[in-house]
Amino acid sequence: MKYWRKPLDLDQMKIPRGEVHIIAERCKGCGFCVEYCPKDVLVMSEEFNRKGYHPPKVVKPGECVNCNLCEMICPDFAIFSVAVEEEGEDQADAATAGAIAEGEATKEDSH
Ligand code: SF4
Ligand code: SF4
Repeated sequence: MKYWRKPLDLDQMKIPRGEVHIIAERCKGCGFCVEYCPKDVLVMSEEFNRKGYHPPKVVKPGECVNCNLCEMICPDFAIFSVAVEEEGEDQADAATAGAIAEGEATKEDSH
């Protein structure tokens, strides 16, 4: 699937990251996940599973945006993604929360 334009405020957005997990033995090789992944993270592999199908494999691990589309579209519950926290994100969130709390306290003092 291809998109023809980028959002104008893309540089201000935090892009989520995901990690894809494939349960190869459940796959029946339909290729839906490969076809519909918006970031072309997956391709069909040359390997066979026990049922004789080609399961997908991850070719662009850093590109997954954890949209869960592959998980939703898979008829056999053979693929899923989990969110990946970027390094330093927790500290940044804590700092933001601290700044908000500080701001609230200042507001209350001024009343
Ligand atoms: S979660 Fe979205 S971006 Fe990641 S592999 Fe699945 S469909 Fe592609
Ligand atoms: S959508 Fe599911 S069953 Fe189809 S190829 Fe992908 S993992 Fe396999």
